[in-house]
Amino acid sequence: MIIVMTKDATQEQIQGIVKWIEERECRAHLSQGEERTIVGIIGNNRPLEQEPIERLDGVERVVPILAPYKLASRDMQPAPTHIRIGDITVGDRQIMVIAGPCAVESREQIIEIAHAVKEAGAVGLRGGAFKPRTSPYSFQGMGLAGLELLAEARQETGLPVVTEVMAVDQVSLVAQYADVLQIGARNMQNFNLLCAVGKINRPVLLKRGLMNTMEELLMSAEYVLSCGNPNVILCERGIRTFETYTRNTFDVNAIPALKARTHLPIMADPSHATGHWEYVEPTALAAAAAGADGLMIEVHSHPEKAVSDGTQSLKPERFAELMKRLRAVAEAVDRTL
Ligand code: PEP
Ligand code: MN
Repeated sequence: MIIVMTKDATQEQIQGIVKWIEERECRAHLSQGEERTIVGIIGNNRPLEQEPIERLDGVERVVPILAPYKLASRDMQPAPTHIRIGDITVGDRQIMVIAGPCAVESREQIIEIAHAVKEAGAVGLRGGAFKPRTSPYSFQGMGLAGLELLAEARQETGLPVVTEVMAVDQVSLVAQYADVLQIGARNMQNFNLLCAVGKINRPVLLKRGLMNTMEELLMSAEYVLSCGNPNVILCERGIRTFETYTRNTFDVNAIPALKARTHLPIMADPSHATGHWEYVEPTALAAAAAGADGLMIEVHSHPEKAVSDGTQSLKPERFAELMKRLRAVAEAVDRTL
């Protein structure tokens, strides 16, 4: 449940409520709005339901949070979460565009693509060093060498780096190199991994699982938040349906439906959603029109030679075209790029 404080509640009264909550073996989560403060009660608050909370000083009313996720809920925090990545703020007016290859393949490859996407207006570089592949015989990523190349590309271009962490024992290593830790679709419900990234001080990009509901995605975000990391960005990357003309089915509904329920920023990944480069641009534009706070786009200078996901990767010049059209859509929905 949440406690809505009166408009004129003093700091002393707010701290009094926090203490009152902690004395009852729960945690307090403060959300300081422009008008008033909301205090969320985290933990087993069943026994507290019997207590006359509304009689405490400075309290206006008590509202139950019916959703199973609490920290991720808009009831707990009505204002959108803003996350700093490099020089930009995600979750505010700017639509953050992160682009780069599916996987880091070589120094030449990642540096060339990093320059190209930066020139076209991307504000972040993506690239997998640890790759979750369906087949154990497929390229698994360059590992540490890939992380080092990403750091080099950041050094050259100034672009912050987003890369996937696949396992608990990789978290501290990947966090030494990455500006944002990506949790891939296949790991969305790896709860130990979620808690491990919840304990470090780096924004987390949490991708929706192939077969997961929005509520399950929010519950996974709740793991990261409740383990201590408030900087979670959700990512809609398409879900598996009966359809075969596209790799996945891009769930554009998820953007407004998640926004209605959570204060966390929401990105879209039209590359993995569609699986075909021709469909990436229209889907990206649709995501931006629907309110996405960011886009993640796969770009490769030679898609025909890419070791993974070449069919869905845009050539740099096509990515630059996409950025032009995206600018127009962003303007139409009162956002910037
Ligand atoms: C990726 O972004 O490289 C990736 C593997 O995506 P997903 O986890 O969404 O399949
Ligand atoms: Mn990929």
